[in-house]
Amino acid sequence: MTAFRIVFGVLYALFGACVFSFLGVVIDRVPAGRSIVKGRSHCDACGHVLSAGELIPIVSYLFLRGRCRHCGAKIPVRALLLELLGGVLFLGCAVLYGTSLYGVPLPTLRVFAVFAVLSILLVIGWIDQLTMEIPNGLVLALLVCAPLFVLLFETPSLPARLIGALCVSVPMLLLGLVIPNAFGGGDVKLMAAAGFLLGWKNCLLAMFLAVICGGTVACTLLLTHRVGRKDTIPFGPYLCLGVAVSLLAGDAILGWYLSLFF
Ligand SMILES: [Zn+2]
Repeated sequence: MTAFRIVFGVLYALFGACVFSFLGVVIDRVPAGRSIVKGRSHCDACGHVLSAGELIPIVSYLFLRGRCRHCGAKIPVRALLLELLGGVLFLGCAVLYGTSLYGVPLPTLRVFAVFAVLSILLVIGWIDQLTMEIPNGLVLALLVCAPLFVLLFETPSLPARLIGALCVSVPMLLLGLVIPNAFGGGDVKLMAAAGFLLGWKNCLLAMFLAVICGGTVACTLLLTHRVGRKDTIPFGPYLCLGVAVSLLAGDAILGWYLSLFF
């Protein structure tokens, strides 16, 4: 039975790795306005179209030692890290939200819904980091997941979700009116969509985590003179990180935090 579980675990990890490998393509192509479905995966250096074997994530990277089989050009290590992250996250979702049949973990619709949201968050955060812009289509993709979340998860309640959609986005919007360029419009829309998925408690937590992480990075960059006082750094990546952490572990974090006082 244990061997059976390991086989399934490996299959899930490979699935997650494949999805995130594809997200790497999306991240490269969407900001450049290229199609994500047209054009097979190829080596960026020599144009060699990857064979089926070379498309197996993680395994092929390790087997090829991070180099193109054709021209020997280095494959960015980002590809491997993305695949590992995808594998870990899908496996994590399967354990957290899956069910088990005769001791074999099975992914449910919940697993795919949460993993889809994590995937969209990764792409939003990464593209914002690269271009300082959050494409509307990606926020829309988050909104498409909203009815699915209402159907699949009893908590948070619908009112808590509606408050969640407003409790961070509206103050951000108002702050943006007072301090120009404090946030981008994409950040506000992102937190409205994410707030609905999270409910107000976890949405506040997500914002808190984003401010802590983004603030720490911004201070570090300022102190090491890698950015100037007038430069802006994208906030989207930290919002996405905060939302992802809150989605997976928000209830546990809030429970722990409240246990310190009560
Ligand atoms: Zn090549």
